[in-house]
Amino acid sequence: MRIDVISIFPAYLAPLDLSLPGKARDKGLLDIAVHDLRDWTHDRHHTVDDTPYGGGAGMVMKPEPWGEALDAVAPVVAGGRSAATLVVPTPSGLPFSQQVAADLATRDHLVFACGRYEGIDQRVLDHAASRMEVREISLGDYVLNGGEVAALVVIEAVARLLPGFMGNAESLVEESHQDGLLEYPVYTKPAAWRGLEVPDVLLSGDHGRIAAWRREQALRRTAERRPDLRHPAELLDDVEIRPAE
Ligand code: SAM
Repeated sequence: MRIDVISIFPAYLAPLDLSLPGKARDKGLLDIAVHDLRDWTHDRHHTVDDTPYGGGAGMVMKPEPWGEALDAVAPVVAGGRSAATLVVPTPSGLPFSQQVAADLATRDHLVFACGRYEGIDQRVLDHAASRMEVREISLGDYVLNGGEVAALVVIEAVARLLPGFMGNAESLVEESHQDGLLEYPVYTKPAAWRGLEVPDVLLSGDHGRIAAWRREQALRRTAERRPDLRHPAELLDDVEIRPAE
């Protein structure tokens, strides 16, 4: 997969060189480039923002540098379209989820447009939508200062779903949200720690009982903490719900 990130703070994206994304780059699984939007400005001050039409507080990102940046990193090919998917982090976008990450993981080329100030001139998105897929994505119902943190989150969630990215692909299968449930609690050695014991069933070696216990725990957690994730009747069918303590 090819990923391009456009930002006025490219240094913010430095974590992409670390840990698994860095290793995936080294292995050639991921090809990531970070671009400074100001490289596509032509004035002495490298201006990327201006006052909003209609008045109001704050500044808006100008369309010209964004237009040139997208022409360069997501060029139009056959049929007048670009093969890239443009991901625009914004609090006005659709909520990000594991399902959205899995969908984005099927694309060959993602381009992230990291907004700042009051956001990007709407015409940039409208114009891009006429030539490529555009996904406006929100991390949640709160406001960040810029799209860089959101881009890091989306890239990490997408990259770990790429075939060959994770050492142990099985660990992906049982994770929270993969099957619409939160993950069961996990334990490691020692079996007793500060007076707290690992549940007996996990020491039993009985794989059937362990799987049943984990499923029950996942259902119970989901019912107690995130009943919105599954239909309540479905959860109630599977497990007798204790009231939250
Ligand atoms: N004026 C905008 C609004 O009210 O929707 C908020 C702009 S915010 C200060 C600047 C940038 O941060 C946005 O353009 C977007 O890229 C990013 N951002 C802020 N909150 C976000 C969120 N919840 N999800 C994704 N991106 C976010």
